[in-house]
Amino acid sequence: MGSIQPQFSVEELKQIATNAGIIGAGGAGFPLAFKLRDDGVDTLIINGAECEPLIYSDFYLLKKYLDDIVRGAQIIMQATNIKSCFLSIKEHTARRLRLSQGQSLGEGIVVHELPNVYPVGDEIILIYETTGRVVQPGCLPFTAGVIVSSVETVYNVKRAAEGKPVTSKWVTIAGKVGRRLFVEAPVGMNVGELFAHYGIEVPEGCAVLDGGPAMGKLIDPSASFIRKTTKALLVLPEDIPAVISKTASVAHILKRASSVCCQCNMCSDLCTRALVGYPISPSRTVRAVAAFAVDNPQDYLSAQLCSGCGVCELMACCQGISPVTLMTEIKKTLSANRIRYAHTGEPAAVPPEREYRMVPSERFQSRIGVLPFDQIPEDVGELDSAPSRLVLHLSQHIGKPAEPVVQPGDRVKKGDMVAKAAEGAPSAAIHASWEGIVESVDPGPGGKIQIQCTGGVR
Ligand code: SF4
Ligand code: SF4
Repeated sequence: MGSIQPQFSVEELKQIATNAGIIGAGGAGFPLAFKLRDDGVDTLIINGAECEPLIYSDFYLLKKYLDDIVRGAQIIMQATNIKSCFLSIKEHTARRLRLSQGQSLGEGIVVHELPNVYPVGDEIILIYETTGRVVQPGCLPFTAGVIVSSVETVYNVKRAAEGKPVTSKWVTIAGKVGRRLFVEAPVGMNVGELFAHYGIEVPEGCAVLDGGPAMGKLIDPSASFIRKTTKALLVLPEDIPAVISKTASVAHILKRASSVCCQCNMCSDLCTRALVGYPISPSRTVRAVAAFAVDNPQDYLSAQLCSGCGVCELMACCQGISPVTLMTEIKKTLSANRIRYAHTGEPAAVPPEREYRMVPSERFQSRIGVLPFDQIPEDVGELDSAPSRLVLHLSQHIGKPAEPVVQPGDRVKKGDMVAKAAEGAPSAAIHASWEGIVESVDPGPGGKIQIQCTGGVR
């Protein structure tokens, strides 16, 4: 890769990523800079698994910008001294892109085909499926010598190296809608306004999710804005399991757990993290929570090993109990109290039954009620006229909120930094995604910058 230009040291690339506002583009929003290192890592995985049903954002990005994504990977590889990179995509995505297992995309960069199972895009499972390595429980991927970045994140690295910050998101709009779309939307645009622009209506009896049907969150489109982590906006009937699962209260789930859990153990048998050898057992946690049992702290601590994939609820439990909701609640409490799962040193061993217990994606889609809506969306490209306003949240990433550098009344252009990354902790800058005038600045956690857009048609 000696001919790749420009070249950056790892510290330079971290600075570029932070200033360009690059965070994980589809997951929890971990700032990229805090994943980059040039010691102890030998493998880069570009995550193109498109894990959740109905989403085709990685597919389209790869179709449109494969060369740029390869270029972004080369920039990361050079800075981190990594020699081996996999573009990990499902078999059907590879076929549609006319790529194949082991195909070279550049020096040290090859295609790796993933099985069509859910949730193969979970970092821990992706690393195992791609390299055969197991990230030990409670540890980060770099401890297994791996950096994982999504397709869009790697694409953003290429753009940042050319001085272009993150200002837009590639979003799949799908579900029970007249038009299923793949659109490049400005970060901070109102979701309802985006829908109206493309004539997307939310039918009576449907809900809207930001994210996939399993792990996405219910939103009110009129009060929600495109975030750097928005990968999909799904309009789904309220009476399918994928949506019902998001409406039950914790109190209701606790009641069900204490009254109808039959301890069949199915949720533990199918737990996708248990199937890579992690010491997690949702059935034990459900039993402990329902019985107020405090004799085994591990039943609670192990919740931190949960990926939130939802298989325990959506595929395993026949009693309408949601172990994942309880796991998530416990995780929140542990994290608020800065209690972290500590690896015991006992190496995780992948059980032989994993092969037979993986969940085929099509069966998963069918079970959660979204199979009828699975269709490749139409690519409509970049939004072609000005949004009325932008609402840019300062905490779109894990870590400290960005710190505003603009005042009400300031004029900004697309790409201008409006909030800088906080120092000394994971953080990322935020930029105006359209030209306009700053209306208000509300700093701190939960804060935001509002911009009245000007500029009309692009
Ligand atoms: S959501 Fe359920 S199946 Fe998935 S990792 Fe957590 S406990 Fe296991
Ligand atoms: S699958 Fe449902 S009923 Fe069975 S142990 Fe788990 S929570 Fe209880």
